[in-house]
Amino acid sequence: MNCDLHTHSRASDGELEPLELFRRAKANAVTRLALTDHDTIDGYLELDRLLSAGDEQWDGELVAGVELSAHWQGRSCHIVGLWIDPASSPLTTFLSGQRQVREDRAEAMDKRLQKAGISGALAGARELAGTAVLSRPHFARYLVGAGHCANEQQAFKRWLGRGKCADIGCRWPPLAEVVDVILSAGGIPVLAHPDKYSFTRTKLKQLLADFVDCGGAALELLSGRQQANVTASLLRLADEYGLASSLGSDFHSCAQHWCDVGSMGELPAAAVPVWTLPAASPSPQPVASSL
Ligand code: AMP
Ligand code: MN
Ligand code: MN
Ligand code: MN
Repeated sequence: MNCDLHTHSRASDGELEPLELFRRAKANAVTRLALTDHDTIDGYLELDRLLSAGDEQWDGELVAGVELSAHWQGRSCHIVGLWIDPASSPLTTFLSGQRQVREDRAEAMDKRLQKAGISGALAGARELAGTAVLSRPHFARYLVGAGHCANEQQAFKRWLGRGKCADIGCRWPPLAEVVDVILSAGGIPVLAHPDKYSFTRTKLKQLLADFVDCGGAALELLSGRQQANVTASLLRLADEYGLASSLGSDFHSCAQHWCDVGSMGELPAAAVPVWTLPAASPSPQPVASSL
């Protein structure tokens, strides 16, 4: 069983259309795939519809997922929701709110960029985003395309990253609210990429304690390409806080060949896989009437 439970499509800041992402996963022998776009399930819904039409042969499970942006102690953190009910009304209401937060943030970012002498960033980012949720990588792509910098990484380093001029602070809902919305949609809240926040171990432990307190159930033991010592350390934390383990590439684009879809291998034998939790059941299929 090759699982990838954290991926992005064009519905958020990924490069591939949901179906293209699925085909790449299938080609890489993934048998359990979660599409976890930032703050939207539009890509998942599209892919689920296409797969339900039966044109793609695949002996695997598509997991309903999402990656929600949250606020914790002045920082943003990401909570992946897996096996969510996409029809949950608290969830869909929450996602509309996130879209609005992103729109408001984008306007504030545009003003900051204008002050820094860059015009047209909001319009440019909107055009690149199309119907996707508007995110910083769309601004980064605009800045690269308009010749302000050489690559997206530079755009984050100079304008968009933490503490830079277009960082307008964290406006996401609190961690507890985000975890709660996932639980109310019947899903499993998973702390995404715990090693990517650059927290001290003490601070990461505080985050884990708060996460568990409000109902968090798992952490991403393997995220993209990761050093073995990081995995070992996270496994100890998962054990200490009674968390199950997930894994995902956090795939965004084909250029990131070092963390391709389904490239993380397997969870260590000592980990409790997130798919063994009771809430990890495939969504019920319509039962054919026998009448
Ligand atoms: P947002 O959700 O709009 O705040 O954008 C966050 C996304 O930007 C992340 O999920 C990454 O895909 C991307 N990102 C964050 N930091 C960087 C960086 N330093 N370089 C390139 N992309 C980044
Ligand atoms: Mn992203
Ligand atoms: Mn993330
Ligand atoms: Mn992600």
